[in-house]
Amino acid sequence: MHNFIKNMALSLGFDACGIAKAEELTEDARFMKLWIDSGQNGEMSYLARNFEKRVDPRILVPGCKSIVVVLLNYFPENKQISSSPQIAKYAYSEVDYHTVLKEKLKSLEEQICSKYGSDSVTQGYQHLFVDSAPVLERRWAERAGLGWIGKHTQLIHPGLGSYTFIGILMLRIETDYDKSILPHCGNCTRCIDACPTKALSNGTLDARRCISYLTIENKNEIPSEFKTKLSGNALGCDICADVCPWNKKWAIPHTHPELSPVKEILNWDTNSWHLLSNENFNVIFKKSAIKRAGFGKLKQNINVVINNKV
Ligand code: SF4
Ligand code: SF4
Repeated sequence: MHNFIKNMALSLGFDACGIAKAEELTEDARFMKLWIDSGQNGEMSYLARNFEKRVDPRILVPGCKSIVVVLLNYFPENKQISSSPQIAKYAYSEVDYHTVLKEKLKSLEEQICSKYGSDSVTQGYQHLFVDSAPVLERRWAERAGLGWIGKHTQLIHPGLGSYTFIGILMLRIETDYDKSILPHCGNCTRCIDACPTKALSNGTLDARRCISYLTIENKNEIPSEFKTKLSGNALGCDICADVCPWNKKWAIPHTHPELSPVKEILNWDTNSWHLLSNENFNVIFKKSAIKRAGFGKLKQNINVVINNKV
């Protein structure tokens, strides 16, 4: 079963797949409690809700025994004009990655159910997750042997690097499980040193200082202490990933036509971004993950980037 699931995931187009036993994440529960209690989650108060479900998938999805974790490489072949307001690479694609991953995960689920029965999943409960708050996806990827969580708090897969989307399928059936691999950050601190807002320390992220959070989740104006530190980033931030030596070694352009880029993202200069209207935003980014940020937030960020260029 273990091999069937992993081979099927690869044949459906995922770049890697691993399987972990569903159990309580006791270490993470302790760490997350401290992190939330210290306010480092910023306005993401939803992270404090359903805490038990978040740290134990068996409470989130009754009957869950195994966690199938899949990765999809999104490292783009072509990048933006470097002087333009920057968009994080994960958001380049014309079709929102949530849609792409969910469709592939659904196909994987269908294949598993047709071979091992429809009871393989808990019917009536959501059991398929992409970038979803109640699941600690990076930790499950680590437990499923797909890499380690680097000091920049992202998953690093040996062979793909950290530019990967993570998808989760929770199963009611038991199988063999993959073994975790040891972290390979060693004494490196490049991501910590490169972070323009000093959001990283000791493998933890202070979301309140992170450009990704400030330009996406934060609903208020970007605090003035950070306006000059966005380093050109208008939506998300790839700085800590870009400097990671493992990404320099392993990140290769993805081969997924479903993730083909919005051409405007690659071609627009600063003036084109400055002139973006609400109407054009809705047309150009109709199916893209950028739409989730909203026109107002993106436009506000672009103005901050342009007005604080050093
Ligand atoms: S995403 Fe950017 S701001 Fe956030 S930790 Fe990484 S380098 Fe720092
Ligand atoms: S930059 Fe260095 S410390 Fe940071 S995640 Fe990569 S290897 Fe680890």
